[in-house]
Amino acid sequence: MPLIGRDRTLFKLFGVPIKANVSWLFLVALVVVTLAKGYFPPRLGPGLPWHVYWGLAVVGAMALFASLIVHELSHSLVARSTGMSVSGITLFIFGGVSQLEDEPPTAASEFFMAVVGPLSSVVLGSAFLVTWLVGAYLQWSAAALALLGCLSFMNFLLAAFNSLPAFPLDGGRVLRSILWGVTADLRLATHVAVQIGSIFGLGLIMFGIFLLLHRVVISGMWLMVVGFFLRQAALGSLQMVIMREHLEGEKVRRFMTTDLVTVARDMSVQEFVDGYVFQHRFNYYPVVDEQGLLVGLVSARAPRAVEQGRWPHTAVGSVMSPTEPSMILDPDTDAVDALSALRLHDERRVVIVQNGRPVGIVSLRDLLGFLALKIDLEPRRRPVR
Ligand SMILES: [Zn+2]
Repeated sequence: MPLIGRDRTLFKLFGVPIKANVSWLFLVALVVVTLAKGYFPPRLGPGLPWHVYWGLAVVGAMALFASLIVHELSHSLVARSTGMSVSGITLFIFGGVSQLEDEPPTAASEFFMAVVGPLSSVVLGSAFLVTWLVGAYLQWSAAALALLGCLSFMNFLLAAFNSLPAFPLDGGRVLRSILWGVTADLRLATHVAVQIGSIFGLGLIMFGIFLLLHRVVISGMWLMVVGFFLRQAALGSLQMVIMREHLEGEKVRRFMTTDLVTVARDMSVQEFVDGYVFQHRFNYYPVVDEQGLLVGLVSARAPRAVEQGRWPHTAVGSVMSPTEPSMILDPDTDAVDALSALRLHDERRVVIVQNGRPVGIVSLRDLLGFLALKIDLEPRRRPVR
């Protein structure tokens, strides 16, 4: 999902990295302000010192995000137990999302992975409700009861919203998995689920406009943005399914760029700029050692990191990005795996390496260009699963 900026890892739970996108800070602020200004004062009475409302709001927000992480973690753990790899959970402006490295392998695995999220929220909501009932019986403080009431309500709300049958919400994934299981046709199931998801997104946008016209500004705008986001996500999932269908079975060697120019590690930056950057005008150059083996990738802009006067005395090796496993692929890699590599690691290109030597480069653009040509020239040969 394209979000603003990079995600930062906060901590790990059961080996799953919990990350936050910068847009999440906006949601944190919104939740804290809503609790401190709108939720607690009417329940506790207005005359308390300000730090009571704000303190409770911060505790409430932390417990809410902990609940959200439990919800997402349940998805991630079930996904991992069915053999999918999970790259983490990301908190962002609309809540949280589990990042799966791959689509679910079977309808049953998608069903269980999706259904466990709302279930875990219902369990949490019930636990807070029971604690609230006990607290009310034992006459706990109004602050504790207000906090428990909020947490219970929000967890039930989270379960209810996510259960809507609008793909890619959990309910929509459950719907897709059932259709997929019944028809054995992932493409058809995705089409139907995406249509419903996109109609639902449109409904949210319309309802948001309706609220705006009635001067309910914040909620109206929020609903419009969520609706728009849902529609985009639904259509994006459909594109992924269509792409995978066309790319499956294709080898990277069929569309990699082979006219690559390699640079020696001990070449000076000056020589690199004069003899390569201005000559060939590629964005990236694989860097090789004395034996011609790949040791890194250097961008045409990398020399900027060094003062120009030092270019003749600085080796390319000291301004390159050293080779990482996520940066290289074999020419026989399936295009679908190349797509995941390009998409998930935010890396715009991977080097194709055979016996340690660079033989090609693939960017997301190459892959999309190949896909567009293939759809025009070779309409689907295989029957739809
Ligand atoms: Zn969920």
